[in-house]
Amino acid sequence: MKMIVEGVKAFHKEHFHDYKELFELLARGQNPRYLFITCSDSRIIPHFLTGLGPGEVFTIRNAGNIVPPATAGPTGEAASIEYAVSVLKVRHAIVCGHSKCGAVTGLMNPESLDKLPSVSGFLRHSEAVYRTIKTRHAHLQGDEMVLQAVKENVLLQLKHMKTLPSVAGAMSRKELDIHGWVFMIETGEILAHDASSRQFIPVEQWFMERC
Ligand SMILES: [Zn+2]
Repeated sequence: MKMIVEGVKAFHKEHFHDYKELFELLARGQNPRYLFITCSDSRIIPHFLTGLGPGEVFTIRNAGNIVPPATAGPTGEAASIEYAVSVLKVRHAIVCGHSKCGAVTGLMNPESLDKLPSVSGFLRHSEAVYRTIKTRHAHLQGDEMVLQAVKENVLLQLKHMKTLPSVAGAMSRKELDIHGWVFMIETGEILAHDASSRQFIPVEQWFMERC
């Protein structure tokens, strides 16, 4: 625990003072513009990747950046999304998967999850991805197959999001946009799903095409 406690001490003594006024303001409430849904993987650091600071991004994390559909009932993910969308009025929601994802690798190799019943049960929300890969991308293997599954999984979660009443309502009022991203651990690049070409392209290029 030494390393983490030293880190906490350093934050309070040094960094907190740099943000003192901001935290005083944030103590009165939060007004984030973004909802970021990503994997629990330790290699993804949303603030680091996006340059966003305290109070700017509302985050949901779990194994495989999964959003259970409305039919799954009041899950923790649905509750956090509903709060972010209906109360905090986030303007953009981003589902961000990543290369080398352990959850998606497990999804594609169900036998590896025999001793992980909770993981296996949770990943069932994404079993359509398994079928898509086995039928439409059967030629892919290894990292290439996992990366394609990561992308399909992000797209499936966007579909699931639209089944949540808060999301569907906000989108129909044009108060919310949802986006699919993939973080490439090897290169640090972020790919964004481009609906017109149905491809994942570098996020900067995606943004430029919209300006
Ligand atoms: Zn992951």
